[in-house]
Amino acid sequence: MFVSVMFTGTSTMMGTKPGPVQIVTVCKEEHSFALDTEALTRVLLAPEVRDKHVVVLSVAGAFRKGKSFLLDFMLRYMYRKDDENWLGEDDEPLTGFSWRGGSEPETTGIQLWSEVFLIKKSDGTEVAVVLMDTQGAFDNQSTVKDCATIFALSTMTSSIQVSLMFLIRDWSFPYEYDYGFKGGNKFLDKRLQVNESQHEELQTVRDHIHSCFTSISCFLLPHPGLKVATSPVFKGQLNVVAPEFKEELKSLIPKLLHPNRLAEKEINGNKVTCRGLLEFFKAYIKIYQGEDLPQPKTMLMATAEANNLAAVATAKDQYHKNMEKVCGGDLPYVAPDSLEEKHHFYSREALHNFSSTKKMGGQEFCHRYQAQLEKELEEMWHSLSKHNASKNLFSAFRTPAVLFVLVCL
Ligand code: GDP
Ligand code: MG
Repeated sequence: MFVSVMFTGTSTMMGTKPGPVQIVTVCKEEHSFALDTEALTRVLLAPEVRDKHVVVLSVAGAFRKGKSFLLDFMLRYMYRKDDENWLGEDDEPLTGFSWRGGSEPETTGIQLWSEVFLIKKSDGTEVAVVLMDTQGAFDNQSTVKDCATIFALSTMTSSIQVSLMFLIRDWSFPYEYDYGFKGGNKFLDKRLQVNESQHEELQTVRDHIHSCFTSISCFLLPHPGLKVATSPVFKGQLNVVAPEFKEELKSLIPKLLHPNRLAEKEINGNKVTCRGLLEFFKAYIKIYQGEDLPQPKTMLMATAEANNLAAVATAKDQYHKNMEKVCGGDLPYVAPDSLEEKHHFYSREALHNFSSTKKMGGQEFCHRYQAQLEKELEEMWHSLSKHNASKNLFSAFRTPAVLFVLVCL
């Protein structure tokens, strides 16, 4: 299971009881996705938070693995962190994102917690933390693409993730690697080692994981006890949860949600606000609704896809904005030489922006998108220069000399 801390933006819904808000729904028959823009807007554009920089905490992984269960303990911590006994009373049912036993996944698509938590960091800045729950990946009804999409949407609302945490549950070898971060990180180091004898794909995956995340860690969580894993009447009461599991939760969650761990993410030098996040979501869902999306082979591929496409979109946008300032709609005609010079300058800058953005998928994969970017920049240039030329014609028509010619005709 991955716990990824990402940068994004969010909000509180004042006056209403906090709860899960479905923002992405999945139509299983058509394998399509819909973004509930209205619901997302309500969360992200709430006045108190819309201009705040935020951290999105999402838990992704296979279904029936206890992701929602874990998120609900995070919620408890958020609401009760000043209370030493934040983990809860022995007989208290666990509420929040819905979770349940059995083999049917409970959450489909993506849900956000309606209340965004404003947290002060040690440098005095305030970040908004949003908790995100995702559909269980790899359930038998969802195709790989559906799962990959949900995973990509939930993890790629930022072009680079700040940190990725592997959470390994039901760890049964504490005598080899201890529970918690210490044993987990040692275990991860061993697992992420790249060696020549591995299959090439495995080597690439390992390299990419390292190149995509600024920080990677691993936590080994013990088994929660048989009642948690198997009882149909279990409602989350702590008195049936294994003591070592509770101990590790008490250590994991405050560390995970420690203000200084909630690093603000910058995208192309700009911190993303809640408003920005809304745009990212809209852009990503469009990418995934496109007919021409090649079927991604793995979750990693889909993520790499979204990641590269987002970098292409950002670079194009940058080029377009810069060129608009030179020869946009209402601006006067620009001498073609001078315009071409600007085009070269800004397209080089856009390409540089693309190549310096951390992306997944490896060199060769990224080259494909770079070629796409080059082609699209050329197309934009073509239409901008045509538009510019038409202004010349237009102004020429307005000169008396040309008027004269016209009259003579
Ligand atoms: P999700 O599909 O990943 O969101 O899973 P849920 O949170 O709905 O939990 C699925 C089932 O796993 C529930 O019956 C939980 O009681 C149980 N569960 C929660 N955490 C753990 C864990 O760490 N280990 C095991 N074995 N079961 C867990
Ligand atoms: Mg769930």
